[in-house]
Amino acid sequence: MLKPFDRQLQYCAYCPKLCRCACPVSNAEARETIIPQQKMQFLHLLHRGQLSWHHDFTQVLYACAACRACTSYCKHPVDVGPALLAGRAAAVAAGAGHPSLEDFDFTFRYRLPKLREAARAQLPKARFSDEAEGAIYPGCEAIATAPGDVLRTLAVLDRLGADYLRLFDGDELCAGYPLWAAGYSDAFRAHAERVARAFRRYRKIVCGCPACVHVLRRRYAEVGVRLETEIVDLTEFLEGFIGLIPVMQQVPELFFHDPCYLGRFLGNFDGPRRVLDALTPRRYEFSWNRGDSACCGGGGVLPRTAPLTAAAMAEARLSEVVEAGVSLLATACPTCKRRLGEAAARLHARDGGTAIEVLGLIDVLDRATS
Ligand code: SF4
Ligand code: SF4
Repeated sequence: MLKPFDRQLQYCAYCPKLCRCACPVSNAEARETIIPQQKMQFLHLLHRGQLSWHHDFTQVLYACAACRACTSYCKHPVDVGPALLAGRAAAVAAGAGHPSLEDFDFTFRYRLPKLREAARAQLPKARFSDEAEGAIYPGCEAIATAPGDVLRTLAVLDRLGADYLRLFDGDELCAGYPLWAAGYSDAFRAHAERVARAFRRYRKIVCGCPACVHVLRRRYAEVGVRLETEIVDLTEFLEGFIGLIPVMQQVPELFFHDPCYLGRFLGNFDGPRRVLDALTPRRYEFSWNRGDSACCGGGGVLPRTAPLTAAAMAEARLSEVVEAGVSLLATACPTCKRRLGEAAARLHARDGGTAIEVLGLIDVLDRATS
């Protein structure tokens, strides 16, 4: 499990902590023991058998959002997030996983039919198709917490002339990122096989969640699951309409937050900016942007293992928007939208000041084209 990370573990174990400033988790908790180098040092010692696979030593592996910010600062570059997730898989196999993730594989599977029920109840039945040229795969976060976002996605696609896209129909409405991040590797592989089978009925899948896209493109291949379907991220898909968007009105000035999985994992920093620049007269950048962007706290199942830290990360991310007095923040990931939106509501209730509205790319397109 950890063999592919041998060299990376050694780099980190002897590193003078060059990426120390980058980790939003250790910054939020202000704990030296969870800077990237220390987490990797623990994993190095566990891997070499110098520490035993016991809860006392494995819990540090969960203090990571798998956001890859540290990798941006690394000379080698070490992929700390996925290495720590592989460490979690080894911990689960040794019976030393995180207590809040106990039986996570079971709860994950139990949730899938419920997601399908929710999708069927809240989305237009006529749009579902169990076989199509192209289908929208909204992601479990959107279906469970923001079905209105999926409806807006369909409305925008219709306005753009992409009404041929159907809705994915099946139980496999999550690509399995939570299983990968929680370290349930056997369940992840089995789920990936089921998803690959279900996807065979579509030539192209347009995913609303960049974390799903990363998992489908990269992590499935790692566990030996080959997809025959073309996987397209929704932002990539929307980029194809730049210059053709029927803009009715410009959307007021806004900030843009880079989702970790769209930016650092899929390498798409310019796409969402190009779409937004067609829709708004002014787009602000965070001082930490693109490869240096700070995670919203939603990755790595952190909201489940360390909810207060995850919430603090989202609030920290918003501080610059609050300071600037700008009321709109756009992003391109359903998890970022939810985490930052909840944090904005908390900050406003607690401190007053400018109310920040967090929008997905689709919301901005919806406002501009309505
Ligand atoms: S990720 Fe790179 S910079 Fe960070 S501790 Fe490891 S080797 Fe050092
Ligand atoms: S991947 Fe992100 S959260 Fe994990 S150690 Fe690196 S910077 Fe911290």
